[in-house]
Amino acid sequence: MAKRKLDMDDLILTGYLHNTTNILTSSSGTTRYFLSTIQTSTNDCKRVVSFCPEKHEEYQRAASMDCAVKLINPKLKPSSQGGIEVHILRQTTLEISSEKPTFKKLEMPPLETDSPELLLATMNKENVRGTINVKLLWFLGEIRQTPTKFGVKARREAVVADRSSTMKITFWGNTTQLVETGKSYRMKNISTRMYNGKITINTLQSTEIEVIPDITNAKENVDFLQDITETIVVDQIKITQNFKCSNTVCNKNITIINNEPTVKCDSCNMKQRVKNLNKVTTTVLNATTETNSKMKYILFQETMESFLALNEKEILINDPDRLEDYILEIEHFFICHADGSDIITKLQNKDTTP
Ligand SMILES: [Zn+2]
Repeated sequence: MAKRKLDMDDLILTGYLHNTTNILTSSSGTTRYFLSTIQTSTNDCKRVVSFCPEKHEEYQRAASMDCAVKLINPKLKPSSQGGIEVHILRQTTLEISSEKPTFKKLEMPPLETDSPELLLATMNKENVRGTINVKLLWFLGEIRQTPTKFGVKARREAVVADRSSTMKITFWGNTTQLVETGKSYRMKNISTRMYNGKITINTLQSTEIEVIPDITNAKENVDFLQDITETIVVDQIKITQNFKCSNTVCNKNITIINNEPTVKCDSCNMKQRVKNLNKVTTTVLNATTETNSKMKYILFQETMESFLALNEKEILINDPDRLEDYILEIEHFFICHADGSDIITKLQNKDTTP
């Protein structure tokens, strides 16, 4: 590299580089960077953060050598862990030092971010933080925009596994864009959280995700995907009623156009009495969850009928308009649904439930 004349006020750090990481991607998905450590005296080490991936090779080579380096014009910044960290910017240059420092290059343990990964089976407590190596088995739904106290954030749930266990994970922000089904990843700085009485893994602002070779012995155990019970506020409701052909081998939808007592099925051509048609009520709810997520749920007739029976309102199943009003009057509900599914399997009035 071309050397340039040094100015008086150039900041120069002399020391040994240790442990340059691979190039990492920030959780925003846009910033690529790498970390290293500079040892500036017998036992003083500073974290080095470089936002110039093009300098990566140079720093990796320097870290593997026994000779000292000079960092010219880095920026010193307070580190989030306390102390000072060294930022490498475009104008920062690295030179091999011609003088031998008075101190020796330390034997350094690997960086903390390269700490051995945690096994999912050990992550059964809240606030466990660390690194995991996992395979993404499948997503539980699409990316949803969720209001949080930090504004609206993209959120996507998935199931991941390693050799010890299977767990649910929630990807936040742009990490939702970094992952695909069937791929294996090393995820640094993830944390466990308690949600609905269950432990899930969550990505954080500082989470780093990199692709790793396929984990072939991932333990796919889906027993934990049980029913979720939560409280919702129903914001909007749409109840649709379809008539189905009473011919049990047909069962196709029939459109009733007028008040004729009989109707011919377009599918099987059987003429039948309108009063014998099977009426199927489907309810779509737009609701707000306890965590302030906007969700869409579906309720099939059977579930609605058991709800109405409990409230002695069975008659409303024949009057979608009044039924919609009745649900909106109640507002707060307990619901049950399978983890990751939007089909409500149990609906209860929160106010009349002890
Ligand atoms: Zn038919």
